[in-house]
Amino acid sequence: MSETSTAPEAREEADGGGSFDVVVVGAGPAGLNAALVSGRQRRRVLLIDSGRPRNAPSPEVHMLLGRDGVSPTALRAAARADLAAYATVEVRAGEVSDARALDAGFELVLADGRIERTRKLILATGQVDVPVEIPGLAERFGRGVFHCPFCHGFETRDRALAVVGSDPASVMLALYVADRFSHDVVLATHGSMPTDEQRALLAKADVALRDEEVTSISGEPGALTLEFAAGPALTRGAIFHRTRIRQHSALAARLGCVHLPDGCVRVDEFQRTSAPGVFAAGDMARLEALPDPLTFVVTAAADGARAAVWADQELFRADTGL
Ligand SMILES: Cc1cc2nc3c(=O)[nH]c(=O)nc-3n(C[C@H](O)[C@H](O)[C@H](O)COP(=O)(O)OP(=O)(O)OC[C@H]3O[C@@H](n4cnc5c(N)ncnc54)[C@H](O)[C@@H]3O)c2cc1C
Repeated sequence: MSETSTAPEAREEADGGGSFDVVVVGAGPAGLNAALVSGRQRRRVLLIDSGRPRNAPSPEVHMLLGRDGVSPTALRAAARADLAAYATVEVRAGEVSDARALDAGFELVLADGRIERTRKLILATGQVDVPVEIPGLAERFGRGVFHCPFCHGFETRDRALAVVGSDPASVMLALYVADRFSHDVVLATHGSMPTDEQRALLAKADVALRDEEVTSISGEPGALTLEFAAGPALTRGAIFHRTRIRQHSALAARLGCVHLPDGCVRVDEFQRTSAPGVFAAGDMARLEALPDPLTFVVTAAADGARAAVWADQELFRADTGL
């Protein structure tokens, strides 16, 4: 046995002092599921969360088996209630502000000044959406202005839609929603002009173009009005907008984890980062082979399970000498 390992009974009796087997940072679907899987193996777990999940503005979670349409708040509350059955799991509100590798394990500095130690670290800190700066857009994000046709497209079906953005991903998004959700789609490029090739594709798909700057977005979900620097206003049932995304936390960078060009933390099939003993799960991480991260609740939960299983296996092998 390693110096830091604990017998199962001792783990169950532990009061939170000393070192954890696993600290999970972030209690979105990735972190909650990682804590559940680890707790069920009687690991001493600290799940710590700063309370700013990515889908907070949204009233509903879709594409989740058995819970399609559940509110994100209710889903997280149910997952936390599940964790209460596991004596070795501590759930704490707080922020991990720094982390460093020790000879064995990690030391974490919390924003309240507390220091915690752990043998394995699972980062599940998520991503943050950065919408384009148009007055009225950010406050409607998640409620009438959506980033993802998989998450929200079905609810906007057969409505007049706008897509705001000019990069290739926005052009693709406009083609995408025109392909399956609406015959009335306008791409508002906010002052940019698509390439000739993109214009041809948009015309073929009957997607209309507005290339004036969008000066404001107002109204309620179902009737959102876009004002332009020139020309008439446009009222739409819903708007799609591909946000820029960035890491919610700098912890992975602090620990030296390799990041991919799109800012995601690189993980392998076991959710291992390039830093030994550090796993990453959910929106923040992806396999290099994927062109894009799959940023869904169900995939985040699956990542969390994978990270927890393989972190557990590393602990088990170290403790038994297998
Ligand atoms: C508007 C909107 C609607 C969406 N709708 C859907 C949908 O219908 N269906 C679907 O499948 N997906 C949907 N998504 C995507 C979904 O929200 C994400 O895929 C999912 O939340 C990712 O889970 P996660 O655990 O990786 O991160 P998150 O859920 O973002 O959780 C990360 C947590 O880590 C915490 N954290 C960050 N840094 C620290 C730190 N240093 N210390 C402590 N805690 C920290 C944060 O506060 C946060 O609570 C939606 C996204 C958005 C933006």
